[in-house]
Amino acid sequence: MNDACYTYSQQLMGTTVSLQLLTENPQAVAAVFNTIKALETRLTVNRPHSEVMSINHAAGKHAVVVSELVFDLIKQAKQASLLPNSSFNLAIGPLVKLWKIGFNGHRVPDAQSINEKRRLIDPNLIELNQHNHSVYLAKKGMEIDLGAIAKGYIADIIKLVLAQHNIHHAIINCGGNVLTIGSSPFTPNQHWQVGLKKPFASATSLLGIIQVQDKSVVTSGIYERYFVQDDQIYHHIINPATGYPLNNELDSITIISTNSLTGDIFSTIMYGLGCKKGLAALNERNSMGAIFVTKDKRIILKNQQHFQFHLLDQSYQLCPAD
Ligand code: FAD
Ligand code: MG
Repeated sequence: MNDACYTYSQQLMGTTVSLQLLTENPQAVAAVFNTIKALETRLTVNRPHSEVMSINHAAGKHAVVVSELVFDLIKQAKQASLLPNSSFNLAIGPLVKLWKIGFNGHRVPDAQSINEKRRLIDPNLIELNQHNHSVYLAKKGMEIDLGAIAKGYIADIIKLVLAQHNIHHAIINCGGNVLTIGSSPFTPNQHWQVGLKKPFASATSLLGIIQVQDKSVVTSGIYERYFVQDDQIYHHIINPATGYPLNNELDSITIISTNSLTGDIFSTIMYGLGCKKGLAALNERNSMGAIFVTKDKRIILKNQQHFQFHLLDQSYQLCPAD
């Protein structure tokens, strides 16, 4: 059994991105991090200029032609936004910028500002032209935000970059988005081990270990980016219907899927649905597994054919859903 592991980390996209390889391969490492940097430069809304920002700057004025890659991601994000009962909304940008959760200057905005921004978040007003790859935001002030989806898209691309370097066993972690590639030589059952973080605890405190092979493990939670005001937690997943952070019984939801883009989309959608509706929706979507962590310390496992879970924190109760 090979027990060597080479880990490389960089601060990118406002988080720590880390890559684990089984062999040293400087060319592959450089290709991975250069690809992420190039994609971040195109997709970010946290800098004045990017392809996505050029669309946002032209809102209400004119359409903007973007690269095929950026167009493809926006198209998939729009489709996810229009799914029935989806609280995923790629047009959420004006509200994200208003609340500034996770950034300097976060605060509870006044109700009038929230209502004004809510008029700017209709995904149907994002007009896509497949022929010339142009995107038009029909109202001034609209803003696309791909924060809930871009890391998944990027992780899937990194898998292809690694394959080009003949690497078929690795882990890429884009901060909450873990993509395991192939099988692991480190465990008897050849599964990779991914830690499930304990909400509102130290970064190293784990609720348990998720074991998977060749799967993406994406978590959306309310305990990484939030602030507290008047004993109330305000976290970064915004309910498009109200303009306020989504309020339900969940601390986090983890989606185990084949590709990371799907996991990123559905971790946000399932968070929005909450436990009961989310579990029902996953009956129809049994190609993905899920782990719901509730505020009252239950861990609910769904579609367990896709993963194994080992509880570490006995203050939580394990509740199989099926
Ligand atoms: P997820 O649950 O997957 O998504 C939550 C994020 O999606 C929110 O932070 C918000 O951006 C957006 N969102 C909120 N509500 C909704 C909704 N209803 N529907 C759809 N989307 C919603 N962070 C920094 O601090 N500095 C940076 O410079 C920076 N640059 C980034 C560049 C890129 C290309 C990307 C992808 C992210 C960057 N980030 C940066 C992080 C970003 O702001 C988010 O915090 C992060 O993407 C959230 O990921 P998550 O997996 O924690 O949350
Ligand atoms: Mg997401």
